[in-house]
Amino acid sequence: MMTYAIGLNFHGIGKPKRVLEPGEAPYWVSLGKFEYMLDQVAAAPDPSRFVITFDDGNLSDHDIALPALTARGLQAHFFVLTSRIGQHGALDAGHIRALRDAGMTIGSHGIDHVAWPTLNDTALERELRDSRVRLEDICGQQVTEAGIPFGRYDARVLKALRAANYATAWSSDSGKFRTHAFLRPRTSLRGDMSESMTTLILSGQMSPLRRLRRALGMTQRRWMVTG
Ligand SMILES: [Zn+2]
Repeated sequence: MMTYAIGLNFHGIGKPKRVLEPGEAPYWVSLGKFEYMLDQVAAAPDPSRFVITFDDGNLSDHDIALPALTARGLQAHFFVLTSRIGQHGALDAGHIRALRDAGMTIGSHGIDHVAWPTLNDTALERELRDSRVRLEDICGQQVTEAGIPFGRYDARVLKALRAANYATAWSSDSGKFRTHAFLRPRTSLRGDMSESMTTLILSGQMSPLRRLRRALGMTQRRWMVTG
């Protein structure tokens, strides 16, 4: 039997406590919408079919997501931007350790929030390796997962991820994935998504928005793809 899972990716929850990047605002969701999604996952016949992830290392990962996940017995993966650790509105080392202590998986989102295909080999290796080492120092354990910034990757990026000892890389490609795949798609939740769209996403079908973006050739834009 083929086992499939569905990746749900969040960024910020509630009101941002830092200055957002251009195009980032639609990827922040309200507390109400976030809790609605978590309730849907927790009420599913098999909640383990869903993998919940968070990109960027916003403070809301700790202040909002952690208690909401714990209250529902859910776990998640947090992909942290290491250049932001300790900055206003972002996770600090203590927050990251609190997530780890609650059984959450900590992974890398790189250092500087740049699109990895645009980097030369040296800069790409630094993003992948130095961010991992920093997080391993904080967590005191191996970091083996990466969340790919803006969902942008190519064959060279995937090769570099493997060379930097990552076991799993999370894209923003939408749809279902086989649970042992190296590259795993996720669907990013947006604040402006309707309930019918979130229902579609929870059913594992590619979101109409994603299909539209692909049809319009918009997948190379930074925050249009997300992440
Ligand atoms: Zn990101």
